[in-house]
Amino acid sequence: MRHLRVFVLSLLSAALVAGSGGSALAASGSASSAEPVRVEVETPTPQAVETLVEAGLDVAAGDVPESDVILWSKEDRLALRESGLKWRPLPDPRPGARAAVSTLPSGRTTYRVWEDYETEMRMLARRYPSLVRLRSMGETLLGQPMLGLEIARNVWASDGRPAFVQYGLHHAREWPSGEWGIEYAIELLKKQGQPRYASLLAKTRQFVFPVVNVDGFQASRGAGPSPIGAPDSASSLLGPGSNEYRRKNCRPFPGQAQRPCSELDTEAGVDLNRNYGYFFGATGTETTASSELYRGPAGFSEPESENVRLFTRRLQPTVVLTHHTYSEEGQWLRQPSLDPAILPGDITPDEAEFKALGDSMATASGWASLPAFQLYPTAGATDDWNYHAQGAIAFTSEGRGPDFHSFFDQMVRNEWPGMKEAMLRAGEASVREGSQIRGEAPPGSTLRITKRFSIPVCQGFTETDQCISPTPTIPEQLSSEMVVPASGKFSWRVNPSSRPQAPGETWRLTCEAPGGDPVSREVAVERGASVTVGLANCRPGPAGRPVARFRLIERAIAGRKAAMVSSSTARSTLIVSNRWDLDGDGAFDDAFGRVATLTWRRPGLRTVGLRSVDLNGRVAVTRQRIRVAPRPSGRPALALRITSSMNGTSVVFRATGQLGTYNWDLDGDGAFDDGRGREVSRSYRSTGTYPVQVRLTDTFGRVATRGSSLTIAQPSDPGAGETLPPPVPER
Ligand SMILES: [Zn+2]
Repeated sequence: MRHLRVFVLSLLSAALVAGSGGSALAASGSASSAEPVRVEVETPTPQAVETLVEAGLDVAAGDVPESDVILWSKEDRLALRESGLKWRPLPDPRPGARAAVSTLPSGRTTYRVWEDYETEMRMLARRYPSLVRLRSMGETLLGQPMLGLEIARNVWASDGRPAFVQYGLHHAREWPSGEWGIEYAIELLKKQGQPRYASLLAKTRQFVFPVVNVDGFQASRGAGPSPIGAPDSASSLLGPGSNEYRRKNCRPFPGQAQRPCSELDTEAGVDLNRNYGYFFGATGTETTASSELYRGPAGFSEPESENVRLFTRRLQPTVVLTHHTYSEEGQWLRQPSLDPAILPGDITPDEAEFKALGDSMATASGWASLPAFQLYPTAGATDDWNYHAQGAIAFTSEGRGPDFHSFFDQMVRNEWPGMKEAMLRAGEASVREGSQIRGEAPPGSTLRITKRFSIPVCQGFTETDQCISPTPTIPEQLSSEMVVPASGKFSWRVNPSSRPQAPGETWRLTCEAPGGDPVSREVAVERGASVTVGLANCRPGPAGRPVARFRLIERAIAGRKAAMVSSSTARSTLIVSNRWDLDGDGAFDDAFGRVATLTWRRPGLRTVGLRSVDLNGRVAVTRQRIRVAPRPSGRPALALRITSSMNGTSVVFRATGQLGTYNWDLDGDGAFDDGRGREVSRSYRSTGTYPVQVRLTDTFGRVATRGSSLTIAQPSDPGAGETLPPPVPER
């Protein structure tokens, strides 16, 4: 339950676009008055909660026996005193106690906007081409790429290492859930030389998809100029009915036309975390299109969940974390998430593994560890599919905090040390979990494991809303590949061959040696087991010459690092060496390995050569003419927009421009050290005129700055705010 109050300040209508010249912005209301304070009030009865609401106080969380209230003004303090209820201040999570706030690997102090995620992922892939591969799972409903990163040493190899997969932001308003994956990626790359990190990078393939619901997140995060949870702004003031509180994807109501997400009814959309196919339709989902838990017309009806399925069913993920918010204590939710009626005994066959990792992550983050159905039953969730179809040890995290997104420092920065440790433990567990298929086969052979089955969907419900006769109806196929290394010995980390509720299943293993005929056999492997398979009849065809090939990862532009990846193949065996001629002098002595990088200073035509050698010593050479485009001239375009946050206590600065790094000077000291990213916010304690500057350093090293000035005026009128009636409380 949540009662909320919205102030509409005159500042909102004064939103302006600032060019290079100075502009004045008159603030009013509480922008320059005392800082908001969060307090805990003893509310032993529902009537006591009502008293707070009737007193006009901002009740952030109203409940028996305690409620959280935000005091915005002297009047609020007086009103609370007059209510006669007992209260105490809550620890202030905002800066001020800055020393106590932990530092993120990125150094960020505010929630990312989608453009920040995209920029950072593209820049990490460019900066670490042999460690980071930009991946896309496909496109969202509105046609945006669902970008993520694959991170591993020698990331372009196909070598059978176990996969650890993380997703965030299935639910648009759960902003902290996207931050974990990207901060974890930056942490891994920054500390790649430290033994613990080097070991993870060597032994695993790690996938992070920070934003699954890209369309919905853009609508939520971009709802008005309101970065609720920015360092100096207050907790959520906008309730259900606002785009900021959008949960689902951007599917319009049945029969209505598709429109940009922010123009859709805020109750439209499908709950992506009820749209996965496994046990689609069971308890904990809804058929009403306006429901927060609307599961959609069919399992995998939505491109976002379907893309996650299509991408991860090739991966053999051993551990999966799907991040959400919120719970007051922080929770690691393990399987089963289903109504116990579906899973007799209330536990899975893998309870021991689940509990061990869940408890370990809970210890690290100081959260709770429990089976998901103890919170409430769900079905058709991401982890239901990853576990029941694939056998991945899959968790849902419910981040600790007072709301879906609250103060960034409270819900992200202060949680980071524990969360980092929890994610590292999950990554390390991915090395232990799952199963293993070993054997010998000709180097360069492609191994493939596949399995076909159908996944169960509820056929109806009992009077107590329990799933009747879940029947296998949605066809599913898992299929993964690896390439046998030069040693001829392989060790492949896979998921158990049987699904948790379908004992006796096997993987069909196919071995196709280069130029040879494929051979297949069935392989049964239990969780934690390692089996050795004989593939003596997997033989290469007649020896042939290898073929050398490579491609540029991105278009070559003068002044920007370019990366090229070899995709050379050997018809009868494996490529064991790639050497590059990058300066066109005919000698293959400029780089060594599958990925080569260089920066061309000037535009024009260049010749790059690659010499690949197979295990038998046969050589293939290729040369490509590469057109290096000129570096863009002039300064990068940059615009600056200043608005107030919805609650009027902070000012929001948003820059628009191209890919690059954005740094801010908000205190007029000439140092761009007051914020990073395309959007930052700040509150001002006193009236006055403040110069503001943003600096963009684009990927070519070009710099642009844009300045403005901001005037914080005296509060014009204590009654300037307009109080809206409390919105309908949440489910
Ligand atoms: Zn969620």
